[in-house]
Amino acid sequence: MSRFFSEKYASLVPYTPGEQPRDMQYVKLNTNESPFLPSPGVKAAVAAEADRVQLYSDPECTALRAKLAEVYGVRDEQVIMTNGSDEVLNFAFMAFADEKSPLAFADITYGFYPVFAKLNNIPYEEIPLKEDFSIDPCDYCGIGKTIVIANPNAPTGLCLPLSAIEEILQTNPDNVVIIDEAYVDFGADSAVTLVDKYDNLLVTQTFSKSRSMAGARLGFGIGNEKLITDLNTVKYSTNPYNVNRLTAAAGIAALRENDYYMNNCRTIAENRAWTTEQLTRLGFTVLDSKANFVFAKSAAIDGETLYQRLKARGVLVRHFKKPRIAPFVRITIGTMEQMQILIHTIQTILEG
Ligand code: PMP
Repeated sequence: MSRFFSEKYASLVPYTPGEQPRDMQYVKLNTNESPFLPSPGVKAAVAAEADRVQLYSDPECTALRAKLAEVYGVRDEQVIMTNGSDEVLNFAFMAFADEKSPLAFADITYGFYPVFAKLNNIPYEEIPLKEDFSIDPCDYCGIGKTIVIANPNAPTGLCLPLSAIEEILQTNPDNVVIIDEAYVDFGADSAVTLVDKYDNLLVTQTFSKSRSMAGARLGFGIGNEKLITDLNTVKYSTNPYNVNRLTAAAGIAALRENDYYMNNCRTIAENRAWTTEQLTRLGFTVLDSKANFVFAKSAAIDGETLYQRLKARGVLVRHFKKPRIAPFVRITIGTMEQMQILIHTIQTILEG
């Protein structure tokens, strides 16, 4: 820390992104990226747009928003595009949470929520997941706080039905409920269908997982037009050109080829079922994931040791050093070939 660093950030503990090692070629199953290449139109669109990077991007993302609104069956005014969904989450925390409307989220969920809360000086309550790692919707009913729920949750992969989300929305009519759907395309029901019914609902999603664009940084929020106006006030006070030209062009192309991505999601769901079956056969407890990862533990080996031994053998998974989840590892679902290597390597470790 320099002697100039503002006191207001002195105690900030930043988010720790998953490892992106360069020392060797790993079977990389640690950051929930897609194992599939972007669709062909994306490459062509980025190449064409490269000739225009001397010009600022469109701050309104007009063409991209229109295409996305069409795909999701909403109006353009109900959409905001952002630099990954991390950015729309940060904007939403800035816009809708404060001392009067503090945040509430699960004790085991996406690690960026408490970081954004602290960055913006917003008090927050962490609500413990149940013993089985599921969310009890009753814990959120009528609590009068700005609620954020990852659905499916990370790193568990478990999800809530829309009926539970509706209950939370109905009992907190004066607070915004943010449903973070980073992983929704892999098997959960989306709350986007509810945005016309509840003016306090904001749904966030990303192109990072199901649309193979983690490195391009594209996310979005869908909600009531007035919520989107507020998010735009924050955006235009932060970085109006938050989505660059190349990424916007890539996003439009990806949406034009949406079938390709939805098909990839089905493949991931199949590979997830196979991986779950194999891990169960090897004695693991595997939570019922609807995401592109599984959360699994074995009585025979603790989470950290398994993570280290897999890494030593060229397979990278994610381990969290948090009390309740330390026995687990989170494994991104990749191609069938990658999953076969994973299972074979785990088998070797357990036999060793
Ligand atoms: N929400 C959840 C639950 C996530 O796991 C992630 C990815 N780390 C994000 C949001 C943000 O992803 P991105 O900024 O790449 O859209």
